[in-house]
Amino acid sequence: MLTKWLRKILPGKPEAAATYSHKQVLPQNEHGITPEGISYAAEKVVSRLQQAGFEAYVVGGAVRDLLLGVEPKDFDVATNARPEEVRKVFRRSRIIGRRFQIVHVMVGPETIEVTTFRGGSRPARQNEHGRIMQDNSYGSMEQDAARRDFTCNALYYNPARGEITDFHHGVADIRAKRLVMIGDARARYQEDPVRMLRAARFSAKLNMPLEADTEAAIVACRDNLRAVPAARLFDEVQKLFMSGYGQTCFDVLQQHGLFEALFPDAEKTIHYPHAAYAQYAKNMMRIALANTDERIAADKPVTIAFLLAAILWPVYQLQYRGLLKERDNWHSAMHEAIDLVHIAASERVAIPVRLRGMIREIWALQARLEQAARGNIRKMHSVLAHPRFRAAYDFLLVRQGAGEDLADLVELWTALQQDPDTAADVEQYRAEQSEDEESAAAPRKRRSRNSNRRKKRD
Ligand code: ATP
Ligand code: MG
Repeated sequence: MLTKWLRKILPGKPEAAATYSHKQVLPQNEHGITPEGISYAAEKVVSRLQQAGFEAYVVGGAVRDLLLGVEPKDFDVATNARPEEVRKVFRRSRIIGRRFQIVHVMVGPETIEVTTFRGGSRPARQNEHGRIMQDNSYGSMEQDAARRDFTCNALYYNPARGEITDFHHGVADIRAKRLVMIGDARARYQEDPVRMLRAARFSAKLNMPLEADTEAAIVACRDNLRAVPAARLFDEVQKLFMSGYGQTCFDVLQQHGLFEALFPDAEKTIHYPHAAYAQYAKNMMRIALANTDERIAADKPVTIAFLLAAILWPVYQLQYRGLLKERDNWHSAMHEAIDLVHIAASERVAIPVRLRGMIREIWALQARLEQAARGNIRKMHSVLAHPRFRAAYDFLLVRQGAGEDLADLVELWTALQQDPDTAADVEQYRAEQSEDEESAAAPRKRRSRNSNRRKKRD
């Protein structure tokens, strides 16, 4: 009550978190990070900015990951220098971003993202749901920390001094393995609903369960994800599923009712009234995600088209079977079903046209794998030569793993892709089989004639 009232009368509402900040400066012997953990480029950017008289720190995920003993994906730098000032220090740099300007500084092959401390004095432009639409106000390091999402992401490391500055008990939360939203979780999710997806992603990646308020507020706010532009949601889906821990992300999203916000139709298939189909649908998604995780771990190429094809396949199958009852042409039913699934899915998550094309090919090839298996060498070879054959074959394996009875088909295509000449053997085998069938049928006829004769003689 009191905080509600205070927020009403005090300006700059979203800054509630700042009031809870509690600055701590931890020396190296307390946090254990050494400057060697920082990339050459990040160290260079920080030291050059400091030499130019600015404050500069490594911030965000890199500090968090180093504390957890995980190799950072990339390095972000925060500074009190304005974007134009950063530009002047580094020849190889450019200002990007509209909602909030940032500077990309190129050092050798690396790009370091440099952000100016964000402030709260000038309220950001918000829409009627509290979502931040535009935000270009600058501030102090403390204000900057209050505007970050989770306590573990609001740590500032100064490699020159070996110190971490922590305003929100981020180091303690990392040690206790809890993911805590800075400030009032509900208000922070309303400002930017994507933070709920980030919560799921970090919880999965870092194996840090959500703290109670951070978790509870999701139930109240998850519908706000509908208002997020579909293109931004696609970017988040990519981060969730293509970072090497997609299967866990999927489970955490499900656990918090967030998968539904991204893929409402796919979510319905997981709860389909026919339990076996519901299980099959869930298996499809989890197996494809597990495959992708394994491929990433093995440094093999991956495409999100394959994953999206698996996530939406159960929806597509229902759609296709429904249309097939109304149409006599399976081919047009297939393409119509694919169109309908893409249109519906893209309302939430904008799947780029190129990827939609790949998904269509993977699905359409499933039918061709079955047809060509009954066809001649030419048909088999034309499927083998299709640029998407490998993905389609892997997809067939996912379907089999999910519970479809495809053993014969899988055996055939496994043999064919290992050695395309097998197609000739298959054809010969078929020819022999039909000869056998014919000759097996012939004596029966003779026998019956004989028996007739016998009958007559009798
Ligand atoms: P990773 O790069 O490993 O996915 P990260 O924490 O570095 O994780 P980024 O998306 O690179 O994530 O963002 C860098 C930092 O910017 C974050 O650590 C966080 O402090 C801040 N940040 C990013 N997105 C948001 C957001 N939507 N709301 C508040 N702060 C954010
Ligand atoms: Mg990062």
